[in-house]
Amino acid sequence: MIAAGVVITPVLLSPFPGFEAPLSTVVEARDGSLLGARIADDGQWRFPGFEQVPEKFEKALLTFEDRYFYIHPGINPVAIFRAMIQNIRAGEIVSGGSTITMQVARISGGYRQRTYPGKIIEMLSALKMELFRSKKSILKTYSANAPFGGNIVGLEAATWRYLGKSSADITWAEAAALAVLPNSPALVFPGKNQEILKTRRNDLLRKLFERKFLDSITLILALDEPLPGEPKPLPAKAPHLTDYFYKYNKGEMILSTIDPVIQERAVEIVNACQKDLSGNFINNSACIIIKVETGEVLAYIGNSITDDAEEHGGDVDIIRSLRSTGSILKPVLFAGMQQSGDLLPDMLVPDVPSRFPGFSPKNFDLSYSGAVPASYALSQSLNIPAVRMLQKYTPEKLLDMFQNVGFTTFNKPAGHYGLSLILGGGETSLWELTGVYASLSRVLNRYNKEMKYSAGDYHPPLIVLNNGTIPEEAEDTDPPLNASSIWLTYEALKKVNRPEGEAGWQYFSSSPNLAWKTGTSFGFRDAWAVGTTPEYVIGVWAGNADGEGRPGLTGIAAAAPILFELVNIMKPAEWFIEPAGELTMIKTCSLSGFRAGPDCPETQEIPACINGLRSESCPWHKIIHLDKTGTMRVNADCVPPAAIRNEVWFVLPPVMEYFYRQKHPDYRVLPPYAPGCASDKSIPVMEFIYPASGIKIFIPRDQTGQPTRIIAEVAHRNPSRMIYWHLDEEYKGTTQFTHQIEILANAGNHVITVVDEEGNSIKCAFSITGRAD
Ligand SMILES: [Zn+2]
Repeated sequence: MIAAGVVITPVLLSPFPGFEAPLSTVVEARDGSLLGARIADDGQWRFPGFEQVPEKFEKALLTFEDRYFYIHPGINPVAIFRAMIQNIRAGEIVSGGSTITMQVARISGGYRQRTYPGKIIEMLSALKMELFRSKKSILKTYSANAPFGGNIVGLEAATWRYLGKSSADITWAEAAALAVLPNSPALVFPGKNQEILKTRRNDLLRKLFERKFLDSITLILALDEPLPGEPKPLPAKAPHLTDYFYKYNKGEMILSTIDPVIQERAVEIVNACQKDLSGNFINNSACIIIKVETGEVLAYIGNSITDDAEEHGGDVDIIRSLRSTGSILKPVLFAGMQQSGDLLPDMLVPDVPSRFPGFSPKNFDLSYSGAVPASYALSQSLNIPAVRMLQKYTPEKLLDMFQNVGFTTFNKPAGHYGLSLILGGGETSLWELTGVYASLSRVLNRYNKEMKYSAGDYHPPLIVLNNGTIPEEAEDTDPPLNASSIWLTYEALKKVNRPEGEAGWQYFSSSPNLAWKTGTSFGFRDAWAVGTTPEYVIGVWAGNADGEGRPGLTGIAAAAPILFELVNIMKPAEWFIEPAGELTMIKTCSLSGFRAGPDCPETQEIPACINGLRSESCPWHKIIHLDKTGTMRVNADCVPPAAIRNEVWFVLPPVMEYFYRQKHPDYRVLPPYAPGCASDKSIPVMEFIYPASGIKIFIPRDQTGQPTRIIAEVAHRNPSRMIYWHLDEEYKGTTQFTHQIEILANAGNHVITVVDEEGNSIKCAFSITGRAD
């Protein structure tokens, strides 16, 4: 009893090996291949998460170091006795007779001096370890922590640094070379002392052959294999993603969702396209590819890699950076308005000069079309119709919608953004943007498959494999955007194939099965392009990481070419299925796109959201009264009823008409009234283009004493009519054809009155004021 206690007590009191050293951060692709790694804080390459000791390495290691590993209790008395003889002969410690278990104890103790007391502590620790740990676990601890020369610790770091591959894939020759290394890493540092290493490796291979672990052919081939050379740089296939995990998951082994093949192709594409961009001093680009079904990120290129990336902010991870959105969020407004019934897909939306306090949106080409179908306005990314649409929908509702579909970055009150919200007044990241598109596509796909909504379908992208938000299966009765609104929006985005003001767009029309949208932020600072198919979402950003704007830095010119190169590697085949069960057929006016009114001459049935049934009916087809010849307007007061011909006429409001007819030569202007027939006041003949009634014109405070010059403008259905202008009842001038006049006015309230030669008059009240503080 006492004798047993004498042995067991020191064993139990001896230190238990622990490994507290910091670990490298390692990021793997979804197949387990290495994307990149960051060195541990102590400057060592020590990989975390080592799980499996490869069989070849185990056989080689035990044959070389510790043949009786599975038999001995942690110490091998025979080996110790042999070592003592050797040491006595040499007069110093030349051999430790160490087992693998003792070596684990020694490594964990920080490589104590080779002294006899140190040796005894190692032995006691080894015995203790054997009591509490399995042989496999001890072997794993050894393999994960053994020194492999230089700052390389552990087998996995060693195979990656010396062989450029995972330990799971090593050959017999490689296993043998690595098995002899920890024994004397300084002596046989790969790349140096090659002869000694070769001799030891080959001796070991022959022993393995003698023990029948490998056959003679394998031996011959193995002896012929080259030795591991100098340490190789680790792969850097997704450096910005590796940085991301280094920041948030330091010291962990991350199995990411990245598809290594897609990642590699995407890197090639981004870097090749970056060369073209660099010619125009656009120094950075980024892309992300997401699988719709799961939201898994398949490719993550946080920034292009160029020779001079360092001086151009190449280390900035653009995917996570907040950038002005430009037009890239217009589809969300379009979808929201379809769902709410504020808009039908082809409803005409005003495209006329529009000024709001502190904000006057312009289309990219600075032109006005008078009125355009909403779907066309979306596919052409016209700014004025978008702002007019938002005015109807309200920034408050759109902001709610942004938050409900998954944007977290629009966190200021609606008043902060105002109507500019739809033109890039807010910021988001490529990460959130593509996450939202993937959510929308997922919602549409699920509806088509299961005729229902799931609460978990709106979620951010997933980047860690099998470790993200598991989509809840709870049914969602009130999805932020339903399948029909999303489908109608994608149908409109599918037609994005004629970017305005850009050459070379034909190149883009070869991908019909893609819903895509570009965006350009104010000042040409951010170029966006995002596209979705039923399977994938691809998002691209181009610009300068430091925010410098460049002429030509537009979504179409800079980002879309990268998008389409990426689309080519993803090979979209299918298009989204129409959610027929949810869409409703609505009879619309062919010309105005509104719900057909009683007088609309041509109508069609179109698929729309159910709330579209409540949308406004066509306001522009009217019955007008003409004389027998059809060239003059009349009414019952001036001609007998039998002499009146009724006809349906398409009549836009004067300002819309003014611009619309310039692009639509077939637009028929209302005929003039027959002499003596009073005009019908229900159809206005004039309308102010500027100023709009009720607006406040701000001028700098220090100029409030000076009169302000404004250019007032009126649209008349018949521009040849004379128009007489009055400011505050004082006559100011007469115009014909071009109804524009310069007006000088002091701060205060004013009224402009214009009268045409037929006595029609309109008024506009406005005020000029110092800038509010
Ligand atoms: Zn109509």
